[in-house]
Amino acid sequence: MPPSSGREPPSSGTVTAAARPVIILHGIGAPQRPLEPGEEVFWLSQAQFLAVLDDIEKMGPAAPLITFDDGNASDLAIALPELERRNLKATFFLLSGRLGQPGSLTEADVTTLAQAGHPIGLHGCDHVDWRGLDAQARKREFITAREKLSDLAGQKIETAAAPFGLYNRQTLQDLRALGFQALYTSDRGLAGEHFIRPRNCLEGGMTEARFGEALRGHVRPTRRARRFLGVARKRLLPIRTRS
Ligand SMILES: [Zn+2]
Repeated sequence: MPPSSGREPPSSGTVTAAARPVIILHGIGAPQRPLEPGEEVFWLSQAQFLAVLDDIEKMGPAAPLITFDDGNASDLAIALPELERRNLKATFFLLSGRLGQPGSLTEADVTTLAQAGHPIGLHGCDHVDWRGLDAQARKREFITAREKLSDLAGQKIETAAAPFGLYNRQTLQDLRALGFQALYTSDRGLAGEHFIRPRNCLEGGMTEARFGEALRGHVRPTRRARRFLGVARKRLLPIRTRS
């Protein structure tokens, strides 16, 4: 596979739909909760968010799939009305353990988003690194969290997004065994119909040109080789679990 293709090789016998960019958004506007170390770079101002949505609207069929991670209160307070105004849909990857906490979505908000036609995905329970979880933590992060979100959304939860974009072979094995259809990552590039679906993260400090690249799933040539090696490592390295 050439490193520039930006996606996994198709498995034999399957028809691959056209690859599409996927973007990740986090919080919008002023955070209403204490942020994790290093998290502030992922927040966009409301003006940046509106400009991104305007650009997406103009892209027509080339528009990226929109995803939100972490379940910040701004998903409902700011994003939902702006998406609806433009007739856009987004997938919200939520954390069951944060629901109802200040600055995060409430349980009722999950139902509201789902009923408005926005798919809900799993981001876990406590926003922890999914690599090397013990059996108890895997149950909490994958099974219990999924059940709670599924109950609130009134829909099956079939997609997951790895916190911090971190995953390994064990993560893939676990999620597949539980019947998930896809793992969304932060590996950049285009996403096809394969299990691992790279996403392009938007950051508040990005220039307009960088936003444009992310919306198109464009990976700069200097980053391609590094990205390819990173993805291969995560997929293939031997499984190690914390004892
Ligand atoms: Zn996250």
